[in-house]
Amino acid sequence: MVRNSRLNDLPSHLNNYRLGSWFRQQKVKANRHGVLVDCTWEQFLDLIIDHQGHCAYCNRLAVTACRLFPATEMAPLVPANIVPVCRACSMLHNPAYQPRSILDLYCDGQVEKAVVFRILSGALKRPGADFLLRRIRLSANRRMP
Ligand SMILES: [Zn+2]
Repeated sequence: MVRNSRLNDLPSHLNNYRLGSWFRQQKVKANRHGVLVDCTWEQFLDLIIDHQGHCAYCNRLAVTACRLFPATEMAPLVPANIVPVCRACSMLHNPAYQPRSILDLYCDGQVEKAVVFRILSGALKRPGADFLLRRIRLSANRRMP
């Protein structure tokens, strides 16, 4: 199947059904919050494969993906806003179903500055980065220590 050609490149520890279910749920969430969805399944697989299936935060094996900025902050579902994560880092992002952004994690001292810079500089090279730049500028003016 051409549409899923990149599935062959997906690291073997990753479960494509689980990733597919995350991706579908995020589209539903984005629609519920009325935010832009501009990410194909292929683009989603590309970014997971670019990270070689490792967690963007801690480099352990990823099990799922997460948004750097949540739909509750009106952040779009674009490749620039998605990274693969391990279970522990996904919990950091979504404790008790209260989604938090990468900048929240940084401000709370849960993620180091170097990690934030590494993740954001990678994300800025992916489609949809305009949103990310605007969001970072906003935070820089408001609350980045
Ligand atoms: Zn992790």
